[in-house]
Amino acid sequence: MQAAVFRKPHEPLTIEAIDIDAPGRREVLVRTAASGVCHSDLHLVDGNGRFPLGDPYVLGHEGAGVVEAVGQDVTYVKPGDHIVACLSGFCGACQQCLAGHPNLCTGGIVLRPSSASPRLTLNGSSVVQGFGIASYAEKMLLHENSLVRIDDDIPLDRAALVGCGVLTGVGAALRTAAVRAGQTVAVFGCGGVGLSIIQGARIAGARQIIGVDQFDSKLDMARGLGATHAVNSAQDDPVQAVRSLTRGAGVDHAFEAVGVATLVRQAIESLAIRGTATIVGVLPPDAHIEFPWMAIRPECRVQTSRMGSNQFRVDIPNYLELYRQGRLQLDEMVTRRRPLPEINDAFRAMKAGEVARTVLVFE
Ligand SMILES: [Zn+2]
Ligand SMILES: [Zn+2]
Repeated sequence: MQAAVFRKPHEPLTIEAIDIDAPGRREVLVRTAASGVCHSDLHLVDGNGRFPLGDPYVLGHEGAGVVEAVGQDVTYVKPGDHIVACLSGFCGACQQCLAGHPNLCTGGIVLRPSSASPRLTLNGSSVVQGFGIASYAEKMLLHENSLVRIDDDIPLDRAALVGCGVLTGVGAALRTAAVRAGQTVAVFGCGGVGLSIIQGARIAGARQIIGVDQFDSKLDMARGLGATHAVNSAQDDPVQAVRSLTRGAGVDHAFEAVGVATLVRQAIESLAIRGTATIVGVLPPDAHIEFPWMAIRPECRVQTSRMGSNQFRVDIPNYLELYRQGRLQLDEMVTRRRPLPEINDAFRAMKAGEVARTVLVFE
């Protein structure tokens, strides 16, 4: 099958023919229909990820498709079923899973054990399956707990987005932060995740939703998806702007959606008394965040959100029902549809701030 292979940071991915194994007992072979191009993959391509380099990788983790074959112990799906992949694969047996936090699973079921034969190979040698998914390829071989079955009427190019960016953003607003009707919200960074946080805050009934970004194109998208105000951080000091838009009070919830220390500081400094900052972006491991003590309002909280605190087999069908009702806007999130060989241009467009999402579509 064709796949986009990543070998070294700062080098374009190459389209190559690689081999994919038959499903093991609890594995599912999926024909990829669509894959969103998410920022986490760009981190790796740009060389600022925390991943060991060595074997070639197949990246991509925002995939949707149709089940082609299942292993002998799989009862959850059958050939022909439509699925969305999710990198929050859960074991169902560890403390976090049993406590209701499967997004923090420590069971390690997503990848095959290193003693087993690899799922993906190139000329007989091992290829790393990025995030246990590797959706920049014509087929995906997944643990059955890394996917959710969805209804056949949902277009797969839109369903794919819900597997990572939308799940993370909407979940950060609805689950991690639990935004309430009437509250005020600021979102720092209006890419795919930030736009999804804005939608989550709108669905929750926030009265004021302030989008902050350095690109006017993204701020336009933010307004279209529920932001009541937009601040261009290349032109205005965003903390001052948030304070003046909230009559000096600051916001009840500030979200950092990129993974940049400066934005985390700005989010914290934008809070109202008893406000909550939720860090959704993934920062470099050695990032430090510094701010003057006076900048912290009384009883503020700072928390992180891992993949929107998801319980994805519950959340993804729920969010797709909101899409059906027109309350979660996914059509507007897909800026471009492109074939797999245009993957490198999709990364370029993401860096240039041209797109909410490029979705790679197959066949
Ligand atoms: Zn992602
Ligand atoms: Zn677990």
